[in-house]
Amino acid sequence: MSESGCLFCRIASGEIPAQEVRSTPDVVAFRDINPQAPTHILIIPRKHISSVSEMAEEDAELVGKMFLMARDLAVEEDISEPGFRMVVNAGADAGQTVFHIHLHLLGGRVMGWPPG
Ligand code: 5GP
Ligand code: ZN
Repeated sequence: MSESGCLFCRIASGEIPAQEVRSTPDVVAFRDINPQAPTHILIIPRKHISSVSEMAEEDAELVGKMFLMARDLAVEEDISEPGFRMVVNAGADAGQTVFHIHLHLLGGRVMGWPPG
């Protein structure tokens, strides 16, 4: 399930410390080390999936659980209103730097569009 040397697998297992905000048997959320907004949380599956491009059909429910955790954390962080952004970078050109699928939950400020 986990891939040796993967930073986010090591955070999910507790081997590398992170500021964890929520944890379930399938999904873990922790604060980004370099926050781009007042709230910047990363939501990851415990299962190693390197990118959206590597998702299998069977991963659909797991990714749904990541969205549901984002919904709950947005309420908890008080950003559900007036709004928040969820970002998934897939691949180098999109800016993906950690190749373990993750959902960015960003809020607490007005977001620009289009993204950079
Ligand atoms: P990506 O660019 O792959 O979409 O996002 C990777 C994110 O992981 C970045 O926002 C980066 O700040 C964050 N990050 C990288 N290393 C660590 C770490 O060791 N701990 C935490 N909490 N976040 C990290
Ligand atoms: Zn991993």
